[in-house]
Amino acid sequence: MRFSKLFGKTLRQAPAEAESISHQLLLRAGMIAQEAAGIYSYLPLGWRALRKIERIIREEMDKAGGQELMLPVLQPFELWQQSGRYASFGQSLFTLTDRKEHKLALGPTHEEVITELARKYVQSYRDLPLLVYQIQTKFRDEPRPRGGLLRVREFDMKDLYSFDADEAGLAESYEKMCQAYKNIYARLGLPALIVEADSGAIGGKESHEFILITESGEDEIICCPNCGYAANAEKAQFAKTKANNEEPLPLEEIATPGAKTIEEVASFTGVRLSQTIKAVFYSADGKFIFVVIRGELEVNETKLRNVLKCVGLRLATGYEVDKVGLVAGFASPIGIQGVKIVADDSITLGSNFIAGANKPGYHFRNANYPRDFQVDLIADIALARGGDSCPKCGSKLSAARGIEVGHVFKLGTFISEKMEASFLDREGVSLPIIMGCYGIGLGRLLAAIVEQSHDDKGIIWPLSVAPYQVYLCPLYLENLEVSSAAEKAYLELQKESIEILFDDRNESPGVKFNDADLLGIPLRLTLSLRTLKSQSIEAKWRTEKETQLLPLENLATEVKKLLREKSTQ
Ligand SMILES: [Zn+2]
Repeated sequence: MRFSKLFGKTLRQAPAEAESISHQLLLRAGMIAQEAAGIYSYLPLGWRALRKIERIIREEMDKAGGQELMLPVLQPFELWQQSGRYASFGQSLFTLTDRKEHKLALGPTHEEVITELARKYVQSYRDLPLLVYQIQTKFRDEPRPRGGLLRVREFDMKDLYSFDADEAGLAESYEKMCQAYKNIYARLGLPALIVEADSGAIGGKESHEFILITESGEDEIICCPNCGYAANAEKAQFAKTKANNEEPLPLEEIATPGAKTIEEVASFTGVRLSQTIKAVFYSADGKFIFVVIRGELEVNETKLRNVLKCVGLRLATGYEVDKVGLVAGFASPIGIQGVKIVADDSITLGSNFIAGANKPGYHFRNANYPRDFQVDLIADIALARGGDSCPKCGSKLSAARGIEVGHVFKLGTFISEKMEASFLDREGVSLPIIMGCYGIGLGRLLAAIVEQSHDDKGIIWPLSVAPYQVYLCPLYLENLEVSSAAEKAYLELQKESIEILFDDRNESPGVKFNDADLLGIPLRLTLSLRTLKSQSIEAKWRTEKETQLLPLENLATEVKKLLREKSTQ
């Protein structure tokens, strides 16, 4: 490819709105262009890199026994009603109405469509196990698109679906996919970590995410350096400590003038935060929820949403709190009626807590559950944080940020039961098919690779993903000797199918070197009057400082040898 003909321009500065490194560099390198919030075009260089990622994913899916197919983007809305998932997807589901007033959805994922197909084509246990996948564009109406390709509304994804006859089969399919994902990350040069995750809108009982640890990630990961326990903060558990071992004492009202926040109450009464119970108010699908949790802990809203089985969850407004007759700052479940109360199980670990007295300026001392109050639900709804104790081994947990670069789910039978996709087992008994699904976003991977692999000059592509592997960089093309040697080298390398970007522009060496570094092409070949004196060309890897001279004679053979050595490193 001749640089002078390349569609797309490199930029010296990233646009102000680009916040993440990958967003800045992909825009500056002319690989992507933004059309609207969370909607991007891939320009030729970006598209070449994306297609290489796609090829690697396809090879690993095929190797794992996946069969590629292609499902429609337009999905009948009835399918989403049958599965019940239109509710959990909520406003993230793009919908439209056709000219005959039929409601359709733009696929954010394809469990419904593929289950419908399985219902038709899977009849007996002999048809199982089955692994089918596609690589296709998905649509999700994200509330906050951000980070360039990291969170978008239209994106290409590989989604594979597994169908099995029993739990053991599902475990095997799941393991096979996890291994295929590990192979993909290894080939892309991404050190992805596997962590326990919440199933979210997809549903199911167990799921894992593959996470690339990086500052710009929007997921928080909790992990144990001692035993290897790792989970998304949405899902992470921790070993809760006991607040004390005291015998319950009689409930006693005390004046706490001016102490409204839990910190003020603790300091006023001279107790640790863990010796207090605080109240947090939520609105869950429009219903008022009173949450109680020990003072030193925070509510994990994902866990709370799962416990309540609700879709919409937000903090209640001051008006809503007033309306149910609660006194913010002095509220507790003691003596409260007609409000749904959800408690974190931390309130059972200890006794004689300080809690609100439901009137301004007063708290209770020695509040004890269940002696002094009842709750509707009790569960783990607390947020795990760095410094908490590991649920497996008790060591101190640490927190890190990361980008989700893959997500796998054991769906089980909840979709196949609702959509009546069943099979006949060996005894001729009809059973629901056991499902799994496995997603990986291509653009997200592209961005993650840039987040992982760059320096202050630009992108550093791994050889496996680079849009071109070689950057041919002749200096001072106005010199006929240089230009004719450069043309000759270009044609020779191209003839040997080496992926080469030829910087045939009449630009200064500084501009050319800067662009070569920004684009991140792995191997740079510099041709100048100086190298021509020894009938050679200077080769330099993007990742290294040292250069070496290659003879112009048999250049293609030499370059191939270098690329081969690099790819097996
Ligand atoms: Zn541990």
